[in-house]
Amino acid sequence: MINVAILGSTGSIGTSTLDVIARQSERFHAFALTANKNVERLYEQCLQFLPEMAVMVDEASAYELEQRLKKSSKTSHIKVFSGSEALNDIAAHKQVDYVMAAIVGAAGLSSSLAAARCGKRILLANKESLVMSGDLFMQAVQDNGAILLPIDSEHNAIFQSLPETLTRTGVNLEKLGCLQMAGVEKILLTASGGPFLNKSLDELQHVTPDQACAHPNWEMGRKISVDSATMMNKGLEVIEASWLFNASADDIQVVIHPQSVIHSMVSYSDGSVLAQLGNPDMRTPIAHAMAWPDRMDSGVEQLDIFKVAQLNFEQPDFERFVCLRLAYDALRSGGTAPAILNAANEIAVDSFLKGKIAFTRIAEIVEQTLEQLDCERADSLDIILTADTQSRQVAKGLCFS
Ligand code: NAD
Ligand code: MG
Repeated sequence: MINVAILGSTGSIGTSTLDVIARQSERFHAFALTANKNVERLYEQCLQFLPEMAVMVDEASAYELEQRLKKSSKTSHIKVFSGSEALNDIAAHKQVDYVMAAIVGAAGLSSSLAAARCGKRILLANKESLVMSGDLFMQAVQDNGAILLPIDSEHNAIFQSLPETLTRTGVNLEKLGCLQMAGVEKILLTASGGPFLNKSLDELQHVTPDQACAHPNWEMGRKISVDSATMMNKGLEVIEASWLFNASADDIQVVIHPQSVIHSMVSYSDGSVLAQLGNPDMRTPIAHAMAWPDRMDSGVEQLDIFKVAQLNFEQPDFERFVCLRLAYDALRSGGTAPAILNAANEIAVDSFLKGKIAFTRIAEIVEQTLEQLDCERADSLDIILTADTQSRQVAKGLCFS
């Protein structure tokens, strides 16, 4: 039995992971489940999956969950912990084999790193870990023999399209130091373009949070949905891909592909382009990473290529999708620039979701924050976390101005 810890089990990725586990219950056990403060959902998940332990970051929520679990002999054995430190302990727990890192935002960094440092098999959905501290994270993976498998659908597709000689031990810096030597010319990172692909800058001024969260192809948490609408999500993914695959900004080309059927491609020096296709359902990359190097049933319907009928591609518009340009710039600047970009974006997106700022302010706030702060070398976690805190302060100020 493989013990899986799901960090962020009540979210969109967490729920899809549990759906896959439910189909493969003879092979995988949901050993630990964690959430921020959604007691109701975590309680239901505990009832269904009977984990050994559960974490609620919020203390009052943890207390409430514990009281409810105590009431039944079926669930009274489940140990409940609170606080964000407990997430690191779960990620590092000696009985845990696989860690699904599916917390949203910078809040997921510390536990993802803890899993890397303990040499776990990390199923990485939390792209912010790599955006903020790619160098430290990849080094921790390598130094501790962790097996890193990307869950983000694009990166999972790239992983599947790379030569097997490079991916035999998961994503591994040492092996992936030689993309060019392996004949890889370019990574083609596909993007649906989100719900506002064809809206003018003027129209974008007035869009609402609900419109921004209504993604045409994917059902996701609200933060990543807004990121998809601004295309900051694709920007974060460019940075994520650069760390995962040891690629430069110039090696990664964003391709708008509105159908979200091709999840990304790798272009080779002999003219071949390899792609991974499938219905847009996160259970495919999740099941891929859980079963890797084998395959297993994920519950996802087979792709009906006749129903798809047509695949379209276009160049991204960096004028309308300013966030994409800012992310490329941050990647080129290096150091703490991506951490500053990410933190300012989290604050701006949160303010937009709360109705405090217009959609188009998100990019402006990120840009102004980057202008106001000096970028440093990202040599230690302390430096990165300081940049994150400063960026949040500046961005908050800008949200209220
Ligand atoms: P979500 O908002 O649906 O769920 C987030 C989870 O994190 C919840 O379980 C929540 O309780 C937990 N959480 C929130 N704040 C927390 C905190 N401060 N401390 C601890 N836990 C906290 O998000 P999601 O859409 O599932 O995305 C999760 C991650 O996966 C993100 O990094 C996202 O970019 C990435 N991702 C998601 C998708 C998708 O389809 N949803 C696809 C690719 C990558
Ligand atoms: Mg993605």
